[in-house]
Amino acid sequence: MKIDPDVCISCELCLPYCPVSAISMQDDVAVIDQEECVDCQVCLKSGVCPVDCFIFEPAPWPRSIRTVFSDPRTEHKATGIAGRGTEEMKTNDVTGRFQRGWVGMGCEFGRPGVGARFYDIDKVARVLASHGVEFEPKNPVTALMEDPKTGKIQEDVLNEKVLSGIIECLFPIENLKDIMDALKEVAREVDTVFSVEVINRADPDGSYPLRKLLEEMNIPYYINGKQTVGLGRPLADV
Ligand code: SF4
Ligand code: SF4
Repeated sequence: MKIDPDVCISCELCLPYCPVSAISMQDDVAVIDQEECVDCQVCLKSGVCPVDCFIFEPAPWPRSIRTVFSDPRTEHKATGIAGRGTEEMKTNDVTGRFQRGWVGMGCEFGRPGVGARFYDIDKVARVLASHGVEFEPKNPVTALMEDPKTGKIQEDVLNEKVLSGIIECLFPIENLKDIMDALKEVAREVDTVFSVEVINRADPDGSYPLRKLLEEMNIPYYINGKQTVGLGRPLADV
């Protein structure tokens, strides 16, 4: 994103609109720090600028992935989905991906208002891969891996900054403790915020094995869930 300095009237209205604080005033003109800007286009599409200073031209690779990961309306070409993760991140109703005895995990980087660079996402992905997780093939971060067996993200995007990225993976529930311990360890090397989401399927008696394990590990959690009406309930026949 760019600002036309000859048109800017220094009103400063745009400053609070940038989710990563990339806009600042210099010599009475608004300027965008290109290293920090994630090309989300919020400043432009909000229409906040009274004199239409913002100019956006799609960037070449690898910077082009900034918009793909930062504007939820942009479709990921490699996976055919828009947004940061698959529908199963919030519901188990679409494909029934999470079966009993398995844990689905999402590691969500960069929100709120901080952003994330792929070199940090890469660190966590490689740790997860070393514990044998299966990365979700339709997830946009997986699509950037050189090899999902190693979790290594391709070199040319490592320094790109995005508003947020999500790793999605799956593993047997007995691996949960080792993986949570490894995440705590690698978190010390990650230079942004990230949260961890876990999901598993309740047992027929209504008990929830994941909750018991998290309590044994003294890991605080918040129960969250979402029904996506109309997308199907494949588990009804399982
Ligand atoms: S495109 Fe997004 S990140 Fe870049 S200056 Fe505008 S609001 Fe900020
Ligand atoms: S809203 Fe437009 S005119 Fe006002 S400071 Fe920002 S770029 Fe300049």
